[in-house]
Amino acid sequence: MTQAPASDWHARARALVPETRAFIGGRYVDAASGAHFDTVNPATGLATAQVAACGAGDADRAVTAAQNAFDAGHWAQSSPAQRKAVLLRLADLIEGEAEHLALLETLDTGKPIRDSLAIDLPATIRCLRWFAEAIDKLYDEISPTQGSVLSMIRRAPLGVVAAIVPWNFPLVTAMTKIAPALAAGNSVVLKPSELSPLSALALGRLAAEAGLPDGVLNILPGIGPEAGRALALHMDVAALLFTGSTTVGKLLMGYAAQSNLKSVSLECGGKSANIVLRDVPDMARAVQAAAMGVFHNQGQICNAGTRLLLDAPIHDEFLERLLALTATLQPGDPLNPDTRFGPLVSDAHATRVRGWVATGVAEGAQRLTPDSPAPPGLRSEPLVPPTILGETTNAMSVAREEIFGPVLCVMRVDGLDDAIATANDSPYGLAAGLWTGDVTRALAAQHRLNTGFVWINTLRVGDISTPFGGVKLSGQGRDKSLHAFDNVTQRKSVWLDLSAAP
Ligand code: NAD
Repeated sequence: MTQAPASDWHARARALVPETRAFIGGRYVDAASGAHFDTVNPATGLATAQVAACGAGDADRAVTAAQNAFDAGHWAQSSPAQRKAVLLRLADLIEGEAEHLALLETLDTGKPIRDSLAIDLPATIRCLRWFAEAIDKLYDEISPTQGSVLSMIRRAPLGVVAAIVPWNFPLVTAMTKIAPALAAGNSVVLKPSELSPLSALALGRLAAEAGLPDGVLNILPGIGPEAGRALALHMDVAALLFTGSTTVGKLLMGYAAQSNLKSVSLECGGKSANIVLRDVPDMARAVQAAAMGVFHNQGQICNAGTRLLLDAPIHDEFLERLLALTATLQPGDPLNPDTRFGPLVSDAHATRVRGWVATGVAEGAQRLTPDSPAPPGLRSEPLVPPTILGETTNAMSVAREEIFGPVLCVMRVDGLDDAIATANDSPYGLAAGLWTGDVTRALAAQHRLNTGFVWINTLRVGDISTPFGGVKLSGQGRDKSLHAFDNVTQRKSVWLDLSAAP
């Protein structure tokens, strides 16, 4: 990580001239309407740039460019080894510009520059390299037919794949979609969030420099219900890869149904339980994980452990230690490399999160952390300090709905069965954590936790090699790992009757 002081980052931010146009067919272009939207730095409240606000016509241009590139076959029918070489070059170029891209992400989202540099960019690069390396190691299949007939089961690209992504981890999430899609030979249209378009827009230039043929990767900035909706309704988009809210995920399934039955994979919200049983083997570690599992990235994390289920005998001691640790996490300037906790993504989102805290208190929860004033020099509007609500129950809306901010609901449970019943009593099913010294019991318990993943004696670990996704309102389909290729390929059966050959 760079050792540059905050003053250097501020100077770089002032000198920045980000790309703000759409990237379509290998060229940067304005929206056909000439319309723009502001991308606002939450730390300052000022617009960093005016970005092209693409509409339905631009979405159509991007999909046409992508379809033409797919039909030309220069990418789709190139050898996996050729695609791998280009994608590895792209990963190197991203790595070469990691500081620039990290700065764009921090300016767009308010996340601390140390996180953008140490977490987001390395994860983005690793993801791209992993899928680039995977694609020339995947074999197709031959079915067990009789001798004169050959039946091949090919993993074939789908054509044009649209990726619609949120703002909390802009490049990482975009890359978990576009890396497998491109590696498999598809053309892609990426629609970044209107709150965080800048790092995605920079990718176009790097993709061209890496040698990706024109039209294979297109980047379409715009407002969700306009640019995003047009992509989702487009008749030539074969698959939709989405990360975002459950509300929009449901809309996308509707758009697919109204248009061409495009396949839809959805990584939506969560309200994940983190269960700590009375035999927790290392309480200090569990306390640290519980805090970082909900307050990292200002709590704007889909798989955050936002419901902390504490077994009654350890409830008070655990909570006391957690409160002491939380008191050390205070908001700071996101461009200061020492800052671990920044502003939320926007003033409007912070207002929503504060509203949830007030709702929780009105529902009977106890606010256990102070509403500390903004530190000197920081705007108060986007700041929400790490907040812990005690004595919550699943009957409260704060414990049922996704808040997507630094708010932890603590619940008291009585043993494993009560904990599992409480954890599963949620409309969401993304993740669950379980801390116990009895690993045999934990392995039996994971069968009963109805979530996409379960962490035992750890929390929020993940890796590109391991599938990521949920059940219930948390979505369907899996990102990451070789299983991600299922979202961007079809199993094509090819029959060849050898007896007919001359
Ligand atoms: P969002 O659903 O509001 O927006 C996500 C994307 O969808 C954006 O690009 C937006 O422009 C687009 N969009 C909005 N309306 C649309 C429409 N009508 N048609 C097409 N596209 C549309 O979500 P957000 O506020 O950007 O992100 C926060 C949400 O994302 C949270 O609910 C969080 O849980 C979820 N999330 C989930 C995961 C996961 O992997 N499960 C990861 C990160 C974030």
